[in-house]
Amino acid sequence: MTLDWQRLQKALSLEAETGFTDLHGKQQRFSQFLTHTLSGDPPPELTEGQRQKWQELGCRYGEYGQLPLGERQHLVAETRRWLQQLRQSWEASSLPKAEVLDRPLEFLKGIGPRTAAQLRKLGLQTLGDLLHYFPRDYVNYSQQTLIRHAQVGDSITIVGTVKSVSCFTSPNNKNLTIFNLRVADASGWMILNRFFAGKPFNSKGWQENLIRQYPRGATVAASGIVKKSRQGITLDNPQIEVLESADSDIRSLKIGKVLPLYPLTEGVTADLVRKSVHLALDHVQAIPDPLPAEIKQHHQLPDRWWAIQQIHFPDSGVNLQAARRRLVFDEFFLLQLGLLHRRWHYQQRHKGTARFVPQQGSLVAAFYQHLPFQLTAAQQRVIGEILADMQSPRPMNRLVQGDVGSGKTVVAVVALLAAIESGWQAALMAPTEVLAEQHYRKLVEWLTPLQVPVELLTGSVTGKKRQEILRQLATGELPLVVGTHALIQPTVTFQRLGLVIIDEQHRFGVGQRTALFHKGEQPDVLSMTATPIPRTLTLTLHGDLDVSQIDQLPPGRKPIRTTVVSPRDRPQVYALMEREIAQGRQVYVVLPLVEESEKTDLKSAIEEHERLQTKVFPHFRVGLLHGRLPPAAKEEVIQAFRQGSLDILVATTVVEVGVDVPKASVMLIEHAERFGLSQLHQLRGRVGRGSDQSYCLLMTASRSEDARQRLNVMEQSQDGFFIAEMDLRFRGPGEVLGTRQSGLPDFALASLVEDQDVLDIARQSAEDLIHRDPELWGYPELRQQLQEYVRKLSGASLV
Ligand code: ADP
Ligand code: MG
Repeated sequence: MTLDWQRLQKALSLEAETGFTDLHGKQQRFSQFLTHTLSGDPPPELTEGQRQKWQELGCRYGEYGQLPLGERQHLVAETRRWLQQLRQSWEASSLPKAEVLDRPLEFLKGIGPRTAAQLRKLGLQTLGDLLHYFPRDYVNYSQQTLIRHAQVGDSITIVGTVKSVSCFTSPNNKNLTIFNLRVADASGWMILNRFFAGKPFNSKGWQENLIRQYPRGATVAASGIVKKSRQGITLDNPQIEVLESADSDIRSLKIGKVLPLYPLTEGVTADLVRKSVHLALDHVQAIPDPLPAEIKQHHQLPDRWWAIQQIHFPDSGVNLQAARRRLVFDEFFLLQLGLLHRRWHYQQRHKGTARFVPQQGSLVAAFYQHLPFQLTAAQQRVIGEILADMQSPRPMNRLVQGDVGSGKTVVAVVALLAAIESGWQAALMAPTEVLAEQHYRKLVEWLTPLQVPVELLTGSVTGKKRQEILRQLATGELPLVVGTHALIQPTVTFQRLGLVIIDEQHRFGVGQRTALFHKGEQPDVLSMTATPIPRTLTLTLHGDLDVSQIDQLPPGRKPIRTTVVSPRDRPQVYALMEREIAQGRQVYVVLPLVEESEKTDLKSAIEEHERLQTKVFPHFRVGLLHGRLPPAAKEEVIQAFRQGSLDILVATTVVEVGVDVPKASVMLIEHAERFGLSQLHQLRGRVGRGSDQSYCLLMTASRSEDARQRLNVMEQSQDGFFIAEMDLRFRGPGEVLGTRQSGLPDFALASLVEDQDVLDIARQSAEDLIHRDPELWGYPELRQQLQEYVRKLSGASLV
């Protein structure tokens, strides 16, 4: 039973006004009404003490009729005072107190155990959960179109009356159930169809249930895109909402408004959620808004409580936009605050060293002299940023992003030399043996003239050689080591490790990166990645790092001629390969590898190799590289390809990362539609490393429009950052990052595709705030919110 304040107050004042006569109302006496009200269950929101008082008063009204006038007077006055107080304290507690949000759903009058149980199916437990259960979409009933004015292709909303309704399973196809709704407005009528595929829908019970939801005469609104059909015009798979039916009692929530659509589940209706949210909004008068006023003001962000109200029941499209912007801001802001706070904290904890002391005639200077080319402006800028970090006592934790071929290795070498010449050891870790080997080769070439020794440590380096490397690292004799995960094994120790560089950092887990870090004395950390990701993802995932971008390629690179081809074009494709090989160049043929069907893909790689070698190019040497080969065999194949003793390399995506063979000029990618754009871009980066014209051929038999459009991006652009941006638009953040990095936080509203501008201001605001007040002492509410949030935040970038 719930409390009707007004009735209670009214009864008490009337009793006082009429001289405490135990007035007889319509049904009962005053004292009966009070006894009845106060002997029921007290409202759940009362404290223990308040409950006792409540019941005690209830008892006393039992004897009201026998009391002398003075005592009646007394009791009524006491009750009025107490109720007044109760109401005040109650209202105060439903004001900005966060606890209200933690109350169970049943706390709301109007939500009983049954409704609460249904809402729990949606994962909603508390009032706060309900208020933060944002609509997934809206129907704008305030902008309706008359049926007569509907134009094919338009996206419209119509409002009309249900004339007839039917639902049946197609006699020809038991899997197809069709729902038909005939709707009329003042201007005409149309039939709305919905199709349900699957056996469960041909149950009579299910169909009847569906029909019952659209009673004849009910007013419904439907929105969708207008389409021609046999029955005239219709809406394509429309969104249909019952606005008014005989038993509908919440009309006012809907008419002439933008109506929220919530994510629902079996047995939970839209009306139920809407009604419950509405109750919650009514009951909670406000919620805390920890966002500093100056930030709100500066970016014209509305109050959070207003935003929550408007996101559920927007008064207008403009309000909805403003509300959404505020809530998206909050999601980004808290994340950025968390990441920046973590960065600040990291810098506090690891009082770094100024490792790099620039010297005259230094190793770095000598290295520049030996370099056969001029650094690009982007390389110079990034080197400057790195050296500044290394010179400052702040520990470096920087990520270098650079497109394939942008020349990250040189940049890394400068950092390594800067550490070494200042008396530190340095380590470079790569995710595969192939890559580690390749880096090692480059380092030997560049550092031998400078007399800087370097060794390679991988799982394949064993026995005496391994023992010797371990010894030299421990004593500090060896200043530089390149390796794979082998570097983080417990047997590896350094005398004075001051810099670690992690290539293709996204291929390592946090644990692995941290393990390398702990081998040093709070070493500077430089991470590198050749997989550009869009800025929104960078900020979201690596917001606690400093990021440098090498956004320029060395001059003289010819753009790789990229063409989407179909199986029909095979003769021309093979002719091109033939021609290129005849001129002494080499060819990659890449096949997709999808993890869940690794076996069949492996088989297809083996078969394709066989087919090319025996049927198509018997006169050429065709090699095969795939992930199942033992490391030594892999290295052997790559080595053969590198030395030119193979003309064609058939490979699964193992070649994706960093393999550098300058003479390779053709990249043929089979089933190109199965790859993401960023991955295709990586693969394409394997050719065009020399000065010859190179080709990338994207083979696909797919007719899908989406696949075409995606692949066309590859034809049009060579810019990894742009391609990553497009990839994000086509496939969404989860796919772009792949399974390995599902470290993305769950945003309720924010979109990493659409909301970059809001992310930018959230980042800026968070930076300013952390700069001013890193521990947020001046903002206790925000500080508390952050602490709660940080506890949930996972996937630390480092340490
Ligand atoms: P990535 O960024 O993909 O790791 P690399 O460091 O392997 O690129 O560089 C690609 C190639 O370009 C290498 O052969 C490298 O020697 C060369 N290179 C790097 N910087 C320059 C430059 N400024 N001018 C010319 N060639 C360069
Ligand atoms: Mg590289």
